Amino acid sequence: MTRAVFLDRDGVLIEDVGLLTEHSAVRVLPGVAQTLGALRARGYKLVVVSNQTVIARGLATEGGVADVHRKLQADLNADAPSTVPEIDAWYFCPHHPHANVAEYRKDCECRKPKPGMLIDAASRLGIDLKQSVMIGDRLTDVAAGAAAGCRTILVQTGQHDAPPIVGGEAAAAAAKPDHVCADLAAAGRWILEER
Ligand SMILES: [Mg+2]
Ligand SMILES: [Zn+2]
Repeated sequence: MTRAVFLDRDGVLIEDVGLLTEHSAVRVLPGVAQTLGALRARGYKLVVVSNQTVIARGLATEGGVADVHRKLQADLNADAPSTVPEIDAWYFCPHHPHANVAEYRKDCECRKPKPGMLIDAASRLGIDLKQSVMIGDRLTDVAAGAAAGCRTILVQTGQHDAPPIVGGEAAAAAAKPDHVCADLAAAGRWILEER
């Protein structure tokens, strides 16, 4: 069994620009690539878990989102060439309860605040959820991490002050992060110093 850091994407790894559909809009936040490299060097698997309503809205395809992720990985590698900021798995939920696209309109088990993506990754990659941490910029990220049995960190580089996402209101109201800090770099220090 290995431990992992689960990462929300928008507002944690990259600027939250709203409905991101193209790599040209990707802006990696400061210190992200170096922090990912440091966590990986200490044995953490890195797993991105992202709600991608752009797919449910018909603004992007699953293949388009995967392409953005391939290019984002290249950006991370270029930002921290002396480390290996390699993401072990990229998960995204394409669903929404009110999706425009019929095939994505459902109450799924993967849309955060539900923990489906973390639980899938744990079984596929052999992750011990109790030894793992979820980092997000929304309380719905914190709720998903807690529901999976992880410790949780809320960072303040994104939507930490925004109202909860549709369907996530109750989970957000009940969510209590184990730690709150400025950004991913500070979250990484907290994780590594605690060990
Ligand atoms: Mg976010
Ligand atoms: Zn889903």
